[in-house]
Amino acid sequence: MKTPICGICMNSDMLCMACQKKLDDGSISEADVRLARAVKTLASTFKVLDNITIKKVLEGSTIIVMLCCRGDRPKLVGREGVVINRLSKMMGKTVRVIEETEDMKEFIKNIIHPVPLEGINVVYSTDGENLKVIIPRNRNLPMSELSFREIIKMVFGRNAVVAKA
Ligand SMILES: [Zn+2]
Repeated sequence: MKTPICGICMNSDMLCMACQKKLDDGSISEADVRLARAVKTLASTFKVLDNITIKKVLEGSTIIVMLCCRGDRPKLVGREGVVINRLSKMMGKTVRVIEETEDMKEFIKNIIHPVPLEGINVVYSTDGENLKVIIPRNRNLPMSELSFREIIKMVFGRNAVVAKA
């Protein structure tokens, strides 16, 4: 299993110096640490979790988005959602699993679900090309806009803004 923290820290209540440094400099978050440990705990019951990779975890006010490698999603969801439900209970928030993908539109649709995606435009500003992600006027993202922007930046290396139609 690969997660944002090392194997030793997944099994421990403490962080090693290397992982603590990552937490201090902001390259990993508390959510990365907590979720990695929760998945590691579940791996003793669900052996299939031993070979998954979690790239990044982002925590919003009501949901936690876990970004995993291609093909790992079914393992992290489990049969009839058994794994993801257990994880959500352990984390105290709805956990959503998203696979890394090249298809940006599909990816954005998945992370903002159940809010419908009205469209994606490219807008040009002084800092370059930005993505304008359009959602219905009467809806809100299931996470903060900051978390959303972080996810898009991390996965696609692009700046995004959210606009309401
Ligand atoms: Zn460590």
